[in-house]
Amino acid sequence: MRRIDTSAVIPVIRQLCIEACQQLSSNVTDALRDARAREESPLCQEILAMLLENAAFASENHLACCQDTGMTVVLLEIGQEVCWEGMPLYDAVNEGVRQGYRDGYLRKSVVDDPLLRKNTGDNTPAMIHVDIVPGDKVTITILPKGAGSENMSALYMLTPADGVQGVKKAVLEAVERAGGKPCPPIVVGIGLGGTMDKAAFLSKKALLREIGARNPKPHLAALEQELLEEINKTGIGALGMGGTVTALDVHIEAFSTHIACLPLAINLQCHAYRHACATI
Ligand code: SF4
Repeated sequence: MRRIDTSAVIPVIRQLCIEACQQLSSNVTDALRDARAREESPLCQEILAMLLENAAFASENHLACCQDTGMTVVLLEIGQEVCWEGMPLYDAVNEGVRQGYRDGYLRKSVVDDPLLRKNTGDNTPAMIHVDIVPGDKVTITILPKGAGSENMSALYMLTPADGVQGVKKAVLEAVERAGGKPCPPIVVGIGLGGTMDKAAFLSKKALLREIGARNPKPHLAALEQELLEEINKTGIGALGMGGTVTALDVHIEAFSTHIACLPLAINLQCHAYRHACATI
């Protein structure tokens, strides 16, 4: 067993929160550059150029690339040979988020109760997901998720008879209904199968994949490509201004399901496609 004091995650998460909010990866800026080159609308070309300029300015000046620095989604992939010591792990994660949002001057966007709505003042609690994996390492991924795109998420409990046509129809319906609200160009995260909650988690996890990377299963890779092409025919365009690039990519994560189920969750990600990852 490898013993790790939970306090070790605090500085790592602090740094990842700041990095994720300030620096879009080259994978994302390359995709935005490619989108600008393909875009046919002069107005959307200009918007994409501004998004690139904004991303470069944020990175150079250590500023958040969007004012909505989101709820902090934290994925912990914990090796099964890790033995934790010290303070409760979730407290350590939240302390890292607290420090990161304080020291990075990132907006605090979390309210304590969904109806009473008092700001917690430090962007905690984080939305924590845990996966137990082989080995003795811990991989921490931070995904700050803004509300504009999160609010456009959708869940469909399709039936097996709906099949692939039903999936396509529902995804296009969700994207068209969202229009410019999720700040396109978007990445569409799709969770397919499992139970309702599993599909929702998979749709979030799908947003961690690099733009341009396809699902290893050929039938899902083909569906990703087909949906991407269909979404880009909707004409929504950058920030909903009417153009030929609405989505940068579509990612599907799938899991086994019940003989009578076909759950489909859709989680949209805005052009601020932010995440940062570290292994300890
Ligand atoms: S949806 Fe994304 S780009 Fe738009 S305001 Fe929210 S975080 Fe910013």
